[in-house]
Amino acid sequence: MKNIIFIAPPAAGKGTQSALVEEAYHLPHISTGDILREASLAQNELGSYLLNVLSSGGLVKDDIIYDLLKKRLSQPDCQNGYVLDGFPRTVEQAKQYEEILRKLNQELGYVIVLDVDEKSLEKRITGRRICENCEAVYNINDSKQAPKQESICDLCQGRLYQRNDDNIESFHYRYQTYLEKTHPLLDYYREKGVLYIINGDRDASEIFKDIKKIIGEGD
Ligand code: AMP
Repeated sequence: MKNIIFIAPPAAGKGTQSALVEEAYHLPHISTGDILREASLAQNELGSYLLNVLSSGGLVKDDIIYDLLKKRLSQPDCQNGYVLDGFPRTVEQAKQYEEILRKLNQELGYVIVLDVDEKSLEKRITGRRICENCEAVYNINDSKQAPKQESICDLCQGRLYQRNDDNIESFHYRYQTYLEKTHPLLDYYREKGVLYIINGDRDASEIFKDIKKIIGEGD
């Protein structure tokens, strides 16, 4: 199975789609945001640096990202493909990633962009809630995605929380960062012939159908 990279602005649903691909195709879902959020909890210099950058909505230094990513991609479960959610975020990272791939003897695979406009993203960001136990994602601003009971996960009864960068101020900064630094990746990957853009402003199941059309039904 080929590797998959999801590129999307904040809260466009790349985490949700990555999880659907993980489940259906048995590929590990590697979210640099999740890895960084976990590392930010450590009571050390790296932890406090990450906590600061994550809450501001800026990008974490490249060297830290490459280090964490190389470690994760060298694990045995990545040998038959994986889903990257949140990396690369700049053309520079994309170039470095190709070096990492060469060393690991892996191919680039598919690059899938979820296209969602700014107004919808704003609504999603402020309503997004995540289960602290199973990480299921809900949205209290959308009746189809809201939990049945307030602040409780439908699946495991875990408590729902809001990411501390899911607020309007941080969103605007993250969205600008996306436009300036990440969006140029579309041309970069278009030229390589690996880019697929899909409308991300629909139900998760409809989006996932389009993804399956691109990557096939699996083994
Ligand atoms: P995400 O969960 O993808 O929205 O990422 C949350 C935050 O983690 C971002 O706003 C960045 O601060 C940081 N982050 C995630 N991936 C990267 C990356 N590839 N490069 C730099 N910073 C990143």
